[in-house]
Amino acid sequence: MAEQQHAQPDTDRTTMSTAIYSHPDCLRHDMGDWHPESPSRLQAIEDQLILARLDGLLERRLAPLAEVPAVLRNHTESALALVRDHIPPPGETYALDADTLLCHASYDAALRAAGAALAATDAVLKGELANAFCAIRPPGHHATPSAPMGFCLFNNVAIAARHALDSHGLERIAIVDFDVHHGNGTADAFRDDPRVLMASFFQHPFYPYTEPEALTATCVNVPVPAGSGGDVVRQVAREYWLPALHAHRPQMIFISAGFDAHRDDDMGGMALVEADYAWITREIMAVAREHAGGRIVSCLEGGYDLSALGRSVVAHLKVLAELD
Ligand SMILES: [Zn+2]
Repeated sequence: MAEQQHAQPDTDRTTMSTAIYSHPDCLRHDMGDWHPESPSRLQAIEDQLILARLDGLLERRLAPLAEVPAVLRNHTESALALVRDHIPPPGETYALDADTLLCHASYDAALRAAGAALAATDAVLKGELANAFCAIRPPGHHATPSAPMGFCLFNNVAIAARHALDSHGLERIAIVDFDVHHGNGTADAFRDDPRVLMASFFQHPFYPYTEPEALTATCVNVPVPAGSGGDVVRQVAREYWLPALHAHRPQMIFISAGFDAHRDDDMGGMALVEADYAWITREIMAVAREHAGGRIVSCLEGGYDLSALGRSVVAHLKVLAELD
């Protein structure tokens, strides 16, 4: 895509809106009653959207199945085969690792999750939508190009970012990851790609126990200790993320929107609240407006306390839709 087509902000809130992409198949991926990455996460988000009276204000779009070649832009054939070729019969599960399991519906759910991110990217880049949130599972940011792991099968954000680069011809992209865990799969995918800036904080030391990377112009993944709250995260954003984002001038921003750094979420040990997610989203919106024509595609990652997850997604969406 020619630079000039995306150089100027073209967000027009009178004609463009925020959409939520999802699909019933994402509810059918079920790793067992014991598993925190459960279908009830998406139901909790729906409940809170209704409670907040947001459900009728946001456009709903059904996620298509991702085409396999789009998945293979980010993943090896063997990574795809690990999922596709181990789908068990109905009622059974197949463990890829101790906490990443497949059920009969998992391949379709994974293709819907990636398909949501891809379709949202197309719609935002075509100017049909101002931005989009993908209410999807399985999540993606731990999935490396060569292997599913950490509840993640395919890396939805990385697949969509590669689509934006390769199919739409974008030259500079940013991925902001505010999940409590390090987005190791995304970092692996773009470590040597100067077109893609990754900005995150992550609780350290913590799963997936990757060593903190050297900070560079396009790698701004900042470790923070357990117990960190909004003050620490805002400091990280002001000191590290925002200068790097403005220097990179992304033409589109993807968000790995995990909400497990919430203080009510026992999966992590951090202390964010809804207002922190709203603040982060506002800051990302401001960068997107300045450099990217407002274009943002946000994809659900973690978030396991059902009430906190739903409330935090509402806070995130209210800012994206400019309803806050
Ligand atoms: Zn997480």
